[in-house]
Amino acid sequence: MKKLVVITGASSGFGKDMAIKFSKLGHPTLLLARRTNMIDQYIKEENLENTIVSKVDVTDYSTFKGAIEEAEKIYGETDLLINNAGVMLLGSVVDQDPKEWKNMLDVNVLGVLNGIQAVLDNMIKKNTGTIINISSIAGRKTFGSHAAYCATKFGVHALTETIREEVSSTNVRVLTIAPGAAETELLGHTTSKEIIDGYNSWKETMGGTSMASEYIADCAVFMYSMPQEVSVREIVIAATKQDS
Ligand code: NDP
Repeated sequence: MKKLVVITGASSGFGKDMAIKFSKLGHPTLLLARRTNMIDQYIKEENLENTIVSKVDVTDYSTFKGAIEEAEKIYGETDLLINNAGVMLLGSVVDQDPKEWKNMLDVNVLGVLNGIQAVLDNMIKKNTGTIINISSIAGRKTFGSHAAYCATKFGVHALTETIREEVSSTNVRVLTIAPGAAETELLGHTTSKEIIDGYNSWKETMGGTSMASEYIADCAVFMYSMPQEVSVREIVIAATKQDS
């Protein structure tokens, strides 16, 4: 059997696509999210085998670590962790509820650090393993109404590159995918109707829809499939018609 792949935020969007793709490539998978019923549903629809589903909030380290330990008892140590879970609550700092900033920082930054801490020590000891963090183009450049979200995604870029440097004397890979706008549930988290309408108007410049989500899974498979001694450090991917 191939090696264990752990994916956070596996209930929808990129996480769901990556779960289906890695499972169909023959990897046992540990699929994490809070809405586990949505994972159970596509496992059934797609006839996926060797999957473990666990209700994990990535901000809770002990549940996160515990789920990984249980899966590793069955399938061996994690060879690929994809830190994909994230929330995007766009807003103006002038009037946005600070709870939304905290939610984004907790999930998008601390959740990623939790995932890394749960697997990195073992990976270093084994001198192998791959961690892919899903950041965003909003982790490379700024966008209006994205102040707190950009802060979290710049944070993901920064922590990824820092840890990559720290472990570069080993064969552990720490990589980033930075997608542009893609069709998932993500925009639906934003509470301002005005900002959602503005985002949808921007999407009109791309022909009405942004990039299909499935291409992110293709990027993850490509990065992972390179020889262990080669790190595709970052992939930036967006709709060709995305202007920014
Ligand atoms: P979705 O909203 O479809 O998926 C987000 C996933 O994150 C869900 O599976 C959700 O699961 C999970 N999640 C959210 N909060 C938590 C939490 N506290 N604990 C565990 N899981 C959580 O959006 P995307 O697929 O688009 O988002 C995936 C990643 O891609 C995010 O990091 C996002 O920032 C990034 N991204 C998305 C872009 C886009 O345009 N779509 C562009 C660039 C980056 P559940 O609610 O069941 O727990």
